[in-house]
Amino acid sequence: MPKKAGQSVLDGVDEVEVTYGQILYEPEGPIRKVYFPIDCLVSLLTAVDSRRSLEVGMVGNEGMVGMPMALGIPVSAVCALVQGSGRALTMSAARFRTEFRVNLALQHALFRYNHLLMAQISQTAACNRFHEAGPRLARWLLMTADRMGSDEFRLTHEFLAHMLGIRRVGVTRAAGVLEKKKLIAYSRGHIQILKRKGLEAAACSCYRIVKDLQDHTHDR
Ligand SMILES: [Zn+2]
Repeated sequence: MPKKAGQSVLDGVDEVEVTYGQILYEPEGPIRKVYFPIDCLVSLLTAVDSRRSLEVGMVGNEGMVGMPMALGIPVSAVCALVQGSGRALTMSAARFRTEFRVNLALQHALFRYNHLLMAQISQTAACNRFHEAGPRLARWLLMTADRMGSDEFRLTHEFLAHMLGIRRVGVTRAAGVLEKKKLIAYSRGHIQILKRKGLEAAACSCYRIVKDLQDHTHDR
């Protein structure tokens, strides 16, 4: 939750545990609660047809899941899937609506976050079209590590293929290259970043563009 906005809203806020694979919203589904990740990570997925979907955004402790609520829309356009288990603060949609109307600090923080999320989604759209699997994988691992606050997390190649919209064999190949360079270690569904600087060098430029924007977009 945005720091400045958190003080006055504690009344209607609960802490919950969300788990890997849990779906918080279905595409076109109602938003009954909003979530402020503490140490969990949530993927935003857009359905491409009835069977396929692609990750278009990632939300960690820098943001909120359920941003349409801040725009007055109680419906999610995307699927919100828990990618990393952990804790989140949650608030009912009704409580959020009331609080958002009167809490200027919360409004300000979420307008700023909306800008950053839009930038992340736009960059990801271009990234998915133009960048190769290897640099995209490196970017994805860095984004995950930043939001989880950890260089070690649970992952399967199948899940990664789903997130990156590439075939499983493509993920295996790209991960193999990063492993060979000793930038990451992968075993039994656990991934560990060994050399962060090296992984940043292997990532496409999209990682730095979005991170710099996030680090340097201050309240105005
Ligand atoms: Zn890229």
